[in-house]
Amino acid sequence: MSTPVSWCHWHAGSSSTALPIQYAAREDGTVVLLYACAPCREQRGLTPRWPPRPPEPALGPAAPAPRP
Ligand SMILES: [Zn+2]
Repeated sequence: MSTPVSWCHWHAGSSSTALPIQYAAREDGTVVLLYACAPCREQRGLTPRWPPRPPEPALGPAAPAPRP
């Protein structure tokens, strides 16, 4: 049985409906892809970003990671 392991960065918990939303830079400068589950996407009006593309430096610094 293969269950995809997904994580929602918005409510900081596991989710089976998480989809990539946006890139964000961590404090150490590492760029990470943030995932949000269906309820969080609906509540916050987030749009899934798929297929994921690399961040575009021309757009300026990446958005900070959301805090729960
Ligand atoms: Zn969530």
